[in-house]
Amino acid sequence: MRIVLLGAPGSGKGTQANLLGQRLGIPQVSTGDLLRDALASGSELGRRAKEAMNAGKLVSDEIVLKIIKERLGMDDAASGFVLDGFPRNVAQAKALDKLLKKIDRPLHKAVLLEIDDDILLQRLTGRLTCPECGRVYNLYTNPPKIDEQCDRDGSDLIQRSDDKQATIENRLRVYRAQTAPVADFYAREDKLATVDAEGEIDEIAGRMRTALNA
Ligand code: AMP
Repeated sequence: MRIVLLGAPGSGKGTQANLLGQRLGIPQVSTGDLLRDALASGSELGRRAKEAMNAGKLVSDEIVLKIIKERLGMDDAASGFVLDGFPRNVAQAKALDKLLKKIDRPLHKAVLLEIDDDILLQRLTGRLTCPECGRVYNLYTNPPKIDEQCDRDGSDLIQRSDDKQATIENRLRVYRAQTAPVADFYAREDKLATVDAEGEIDEIAGRMRTALNA
């Protein structure tokens, strides 16, 4: 299956994309993760993306389309993928459509995770990530067993630099202005499903299964 997952930062997109990918045996493709990897590797592309990422702004379409084309061209994406964090604006959605049409593998569905602003802020300000394995925790809703240490490998958890208050507000503004219209784009194409993203992780995963009939 070829799926796009949409939702504000903090809506649980990453967690749900991961679960869905595992269950369907297809890769979760996160442009945020791909960009963070590029940044960590010190590549030219990473350096160009860094400023926008730290300010909570969108990285240029040119950079993002380059990494997504490369990633979707890899062997493991031939049987399908769950896109997480892409497309982030209508231009990217149109570019994706074009790319998939060219290889005759159109998108099956876009799923929008819907959630209240108050809950979003709590999820984002409480978010902690393991720098080793990438596992994500939340101080309020999904805390690690031992204070600020990864359950899996014991590493000290960190707050992502773009999870700071000012950046969060910017990311939410960008989402409303640029990414929310992407849902309308898929609704017009008759490919949009909407899922209530409040509640327990398993509960939301169940709603996703129903929405996707998968
Ligand atoms: P995320 O992990 O999806 O929240 O992404 C973290 C940051 O990476 C965003 O705030 C943007 O700066 C950048 N980013 C991720 N995906 C995209 C995209 N599709 N288009 C532009 N910028 C992106």
